[in-house]
Amino acid sequence: MSASNPSSAAAGLGPGGPADPEHDPGATYALEPERTAALTALVVSSTGEEVPTHTPLTGQRLAMMPQSSAQDVEEAFARARAAQREWARTTLEERSAILLRLHDLVLEHQDEIMDLVCWESGKARKDAFDETLHVALTARYYARTAKQHLRTERKIGVVPGLTRVELNRVPKGVVGIIAPWNYPFTMALCDGIPALLAGNAVVTKPDAQTMLSALFGARLLREAGFPADLWQVVAGPGRVLGSEIISRADYICFTGSTATGKLIATQCAERLIGCSLELGGKNPIMILRDADLDRAAEGAVRASFSNAGQLCVSMERLFVADQVYDRFVEKFVARTKALRLAPGLEWGSDMGSLISQDQLDTVTAHVEDAVSKGARVLAGGRARPDLGPYFFEPTILEGVTPDMTCFGDETFGPVISLYRFSDEADAVARANEGQYGLNASIYSRDGKRARAIARHIKCGTVNINEAFAATFASLDAPMGGMRESGMGRRQGAEGVHRYTESQSVATQRLLRFAPVLGLSDEAFAKIFNANLKLMKKVGRP
Ligand code: NAD
Repeated sequence: MSASNPSSAAAGLGPGGPADPEHDPGATYALEPERTAALTALVVSSTGEEVPTHTPLTGQRLAMMPQSSAQDVEEAFARARAAQREWARTTLEERSAILLRLHDLVLEHQDEIMDLVCWESGKARKDAFDETLHVALTARYYARTAKQHLRTERKIGVVPGLTRVELNRVPKGVVGIIAPWNYPFTMALCDGIPALLAGNAVVTKPDAQTMLSALFGARLLREAGFPADLWQVVAGPGRVLGSEIISRADYICFTGSTATGKLIATQCAERLIGCSLELGGKNPIMILRDADLDRAAEGAVRASFSNAGQLCVSMERLFVADQVYDRFVEKFVARTKALRLAPGLEWGSDMGSLISQDQLDTVTAHVEDAVSKGARVLAGGRARPDLGPYFFEPTILEGVTPDMTCFGDETFGPVISLYRFSDEADAVARANEGQYGLNASIYSRDGKRARAIARHIKCGTVNINEAFAATFASLDAPMGGMRESGMGRRQGAEGVHRYTESQSVATQRLLRFAPVLGLSDEAFAKIFNANLKLMKKVGRP
């Protein structure tokens, strides 16, 4: 894959800065047709129908994407089920070895993946890099912890020495994965990796806007050595194909908005199948009075503007202690104004484009609504059509009040609201307002105090002296949302156990659970009562 005429990423294009004469917003991006065709051929489709996909960088067409029908979803599940039966017989060692090859392949193809992700999503290359990093980390983590999470475990039997209990982790079968566009490569793969490791097959529906990145992931899975039919990709509108997938799957992993998550949970409930839901957030960051302000300002910029704010764990509400508010805000605003916005595939841009007109409309509406009701813009605040159709400046708002949409609604864009606090308990209460509970961040030089505060924050992850990467990349720890930010967890033991059924197998020796030698039921009950008292006395659980 190569850019036919990649844009020279413009240097020094900070928000509001002068346009670079070298920069050509009309520069074309194209994929080599044979390579695109090799990817689109991986979609299960018999309809003959295709829809175009476009790059947000210029709005130009990238590919014609085959569309899947209900019959195609049926076919995808049939293939996946057949492949899963064989796959479930492989050993954890064999599965882990394939995952380690996937790790290497991601690094080998890193540049190609980053090009594709930038083209499809419009994000900055450094944000595309995070995707390759996250997939490689996930592949390695699950390969190296497969036995720890999935081997048969011994459990405590009811009668010491006579009841042997084993816990098996049995694969669910075929897992349906419905993924969003914001991290198209990592969201396509990172939830599927533990599903495969646990012995499942996957049928996935990536977002229509970012199919190529997801298909590239499917290609790498095959190259790494997973059987071809084990991972099926279907393409089409979410509300149509989503239902088709849910009606056939043994488990659903969904990442996307809270509104869609609720619809999916309802459909899963009707079939009594489990689901994990990774949903939206309105994430708070707290700068305590003893924070290292330079570190906090750097972190707050990443927290707010990574991936142009289109990141589930990015921050949209910033609470700053009164004593340091002015000094912190000065540093935060200066760093934000120095960010370089540029379209293109090269390194050097701090922030890329939003994905679509819809995203641009939402971000613009949130900012305009806040400003019209009295909020002040300390940085950014406007779209940048000179850079690309969907660029929007990193924006800091002050004076946001509950009547403004961006006070409580997820913007999912580069917009952060500043709030002062004088009392930490009050700041925690405000951070806990609203229906979400995904990620939070606390900056303080006193780690112990910050960890104590974290226990009162109703979020699934809390980062101390870091924005989001510390929890997101610590794959041994579960990641997910409380309240309306989700159900279930990805990563760690929970991230793989969700794709298994627990099966307990107890083997009983000698003793039977019934009166023997002519004992009456009453005598038998007395022996059991004596046994209960003894077991408690000797400290048995
Ligand atoms: P979305 O809910 O509109 O779409 C997500 C996926 O669901 C897409 O593949 C879409 O085609 C599909 N879909 C849409 N309607 C459907 C339906 N009725 N049934 C089944 N599938 C359907 O979300 P989005 O706007 O694409 O993504 C942004 C949202 O995702 C934000 O709210 C963000 O916070 C959230 N997100 C959360 C996490 C997390 O880990 N918690 C990660 C990334 C994104």
